[in-house]
Amino acid sequence: MSSITVCARFRPSNSKEKQNGNDSGCIRNIDTETFICKDEKDEEFVFSFDRVFYEKSEQADVYQFLALPIVRDVVVDAFNGTVITYGQTGAGKTYSMEGPGILECEEQNKGLLPRVVEGLFDSINSLDKEKTYSIKLSMVEIYMEKVRDLFDLSKDNIQIKEIKSRGIILPGVTEVSCILSQCNPIILFHSEVTLLFTIRHMVLCTIFTHDPSEKSNPLLDADLKNFKEITVLDPAEALQSLSRGIANRAVGETQMNVASSRSHCIYIFTIQQEFFSRDKRTRSGKLILVDLAGSEKVEKTGAGGRVLEEAKTINKSLSALGNVINSLTCGLQGKASHIPYRDSKLTRILQDALGGNARTALLCCCSPSAFNASESLSTLRFGARAKHIKESPRINYSEEKCDTSSSAASPSPSGDESSAR
Ligand code: ADP
Ligand code: MG
Repeated sequence: MSSITVCARFRPSNSKEKQNGNDSGCIRNIDTETFICKDEKDEEFVFSFDRVFYEKSEQADVYQFLALPIVRDVVVDAFNGTVITYGQTGAGKTYSMEGPGILECEEQNKGLLPRVVEGLFDSINSLDKEKTYSIKLSMVEIYMEKVRDLFDLSKDNIQIKEIKSRGIILPGVTEVSCILSQCNPIILFHSEVTLLFTIRHMVLCTIFTHDPSEKSNPLLDADLKNFKEITVLDPAEALQSLSRGIANRAVGETQMNVASSRSHCIYIFTIQQEFFSRDKRTRSGKLILVDLAGSEKVEKTGAGGRVLEEAKTINKSLSALGNVINSLTCGLQGKASHIPYRDSKLTRILQDALGGNARTALLCCCSPSAFNASESLSTLRFGARAKHIKESPRINYSEEKCDTSSSAASPSPSGDESSAR
């Protein structure tokens, strides 16, 4: 059993905060885990998290503490994991997630996303030689409870479904994929799959063109057929694709006159491992990174009309996230059996990556300014509540592949069915 990792991060004061003399009003650090936050009335609240990152903290430290252990668990043990940045607009969520930019960014400023991409490739390359790994990456945003594919803006209302063999899926979403083989390349022939083999640094690369009308492969569920795949060879190419997704987000924002802080941005990595030998079992882990929409209160945005509607929708989905977290906590105390994942698109997408079957890390991003004290306190209270989740990760074995062998589906080491969550 291990609990969710909850960290707080205070960004440096910005020039406006310095001008107003509000730059260091609300935080007093005690040590690397404990700090005091003051509200507007100078009342003090003590918080203890797994780690506090103060203004001089390095992006690399945040990655190493928060995300690297999850990257390893997803790759080595096929667990699911989620890393979430939470906080008001301007608190440093996107800076922590992406850095100042994901391409041509100075090494020290790189955010979690480029480090996770490199970490996934590095972890796989350092592992045993008996498996083929595939990494699939999708990038979506949720705006006004609609899921939009950031690799293909024409797909602006993607549905969320749950299937037994893969858990939560987004049918039709574009997937950037890479297959890494560390042994002699195996040739996978399939009548409906176009194969392109390029061996570069022992990387085996394939382009899949799933035919939506295909009926011959019983292993492919109808919902899985029409995934569009783009193939990449290495972390640099994966980051190129991600930067196009980030640019698409900006295009969509301009078209709709929406600020990025009004949508949740979600990066979904699925890492599948297939054993060369033995029973050809596959297992897969999912790593989800979430850059949440700003958590500021509606009154503070001074909003009316559509902006008010946006703010209400965001608050609703963030409350849903908080309720799921609370239900997971209560469930462990024997109080709640129902986890309300279906109350928002956000919690539904995170369903199998948050709670019982997953490792979770939450970064509570805050301004250090007294002006933002009430927002910072609300962010920190969200983190304090989340800290009570207890988890027991399980490995996700694929039932489909197990069924292809003569033997019955293999149970996970815990004795649970693969899709149990
Ligand atoms: P959010 O995504 O929470 O709305 P951003 O990540 O865009 O906020 O951060 C707002 C501004 O503060 C940006 O200009 C960003 O570069 C800067 N910033 C945030 N966190 C840090 C940090 N830890 N170090 C330096 N600059 C930061
Ligand atoms: Mg942002």
